[in-house]
Amino acid sequence: MNKAPERQSYYAATVNNTTEYPRLQGDEVADICVIGGGFTGLSAALKLAERDYAVTLIESHTIGWGASGRNGGQLIRGLSGQKALRKKYGPDIEAFINRLRWRGNEIVEENIRKYDIECDLKYGYIDCAFKDRQMRDLEAEFEKSSSMDMADHFRLVGADEISEYVGTSVYKGGLFNDRDAHLHPLNLCLGEARAAAGLGTKIYEQSPVLSITHGKEPVVHTKHGTVRAKKVILAGNAYHLLEQKKVGGILFPAGTYIIATEPLSDDLADEVMPRDLAACDVNEMLDYYRLSSDKRMLFGGRCNYSGREPKDIKATIRPRMLKVFPQLKDARIDFQWGGKIGIVINRIPQVGRIGDNVYYAQGYSGHGMNQAHIVGEILTEAICGQMEDFDVYAKAKHWKIPAPRWVGNNMVALGMLYYRMKDLL
Ligand SMILES: Cc1cc2nc3c(=O)[nH]c(=O)nc-3n(C[C@H](O)[C@H](O)[C@H](O)COP(=O)(O)OP(=O)(O)OC[C@H]3O[C@@H](n4cnc5c(N)ncnc54)[C@H](O)[C@@H]3O)c2cc1C
Repeated sequence: MNKAPERQSYYAATVNNTTEYPRLQGDEVADICVIGGGFTGLSAALKLAERDYAVTLIESHTIGWGASGRNGGQLIRGLSGQKALRKKYGPDIEAFINRLRWRGNEIVEENIRKYDIECDLKYGYIDCAFKDRQMRDLEAEFEKSSSMDMADHFRLVGADEISEYVGTSVYKGGLFNDRDAHLHPLNLCLGEARAAAGLGTKIYEQSPVLSITHGKEPVVHTKHGTVRAKKVILAGNAYHLLEQKKVGGILFPAGTYIIATEPLSDDLADEVMPRDLAACDVNEMLDYYRLSSDKRMLFGGRCNYSGREPKDIKATIRPRMLKVFPQLKDARIDFQWGGKIGIVINRIPQVGRIGDNVYYAQGYSGHGMNQAHIVGEILTEAICGQMEDFDVYAKAKHWKIPAPRWVGNNMVALGMLYYRMKDLL
């Protein structure tokens, strides 16, 4: 068991790889220096290493310490910000969205297979509707998926049969598909890091990057060392404050929280999650949940946009869980934790370049397992000279709030009140 205090999630308590990487000491050179050991940084590092680049990855804490190693573990199709992408690019963007919407799932599957990563992958996911209008949206999505040859993978689930998928009476129905999945995200991070290291990537932990000196060959500085590289990828997401003049004012960190019950009896586990799926409701302020491989209910929700952490996560999340699953009233809560997601106002990931050799990618607004792997591949292609997909993101316009982060966070919190009201209607 890893005892680092930041890792007292269910995932931290069940890691299957305890490799520790050294601190960066001294001066090094690399083709590519990646800052951040979450899915964005790891997936880019792995793809680049597969293409024979000499990669150095630097992480402030430990691999998977950020959102990537703490999240709900739900690997869900689609791109964040699809609506805004459609608004900016019109109908031409459909081909891009359709080509990429499963790509993150595929990359994860490829990595798991190719590098033998044990991370409890299980298929099946359902979106759940509380209201008729939400059900109509799911019906429209079902129609669309059917028209794209995906009918075999999707199933519209009515009120009469929803309890065969999720053991609760709170929903009007749902949209099931058998291609989305759930898994142990920290073990996936650690497996991807092991794979990259096996291909020669140098990984450093406990080495916060303090600054980047720009130039023909940018230099990345930590307290005890430097890396001079031909190109740099900044993948610190909601946890970094580097290069704020260029990238600041667009991403706002929000907290989201998860509790894990004790392992449930087989009967109770079958009652609440008869098909062992990942599930989300379709509210703007959504709840997400699934069983772990040892049959704990992992139940997450409640975004905190103000930047203030809740004093007691269990007290906030457990009542939400009991609304959906009153059957769990006697289940002990063994773990509670949270992490930061990067909210971008129009939900389009913030991807771009500073000068021509420092790339950045962040802000998946809570939908990052799939999206971070897509972006990792897009960054790799851009570094190899294929700019088309990168440019789709880099040319997107973002709202920039030219004020300190706490002001921006409070504005976003205020904006989210609107969505909270909408959920209630
Ligand atoms: C509780 C929770 C539940 C979620 N559930 C889901 C889900 O079920 N499905 C889904 O698709 N998405 C989910 N998300 C979102 C998803 O986890 C993120 O979008 C995704 O992991 C972001 O990956 P990332 O690599 O960009 O950022 P992160 O995983 O946050 O990684 C950034 C890394 O950079 C490091 N770093 C920052 N600054 C520096 C620096 N100066 N020097 C060195 N290193 C630095 C950090 O320590 C961190 O490890 C959830 C997020 C949270 C917090």
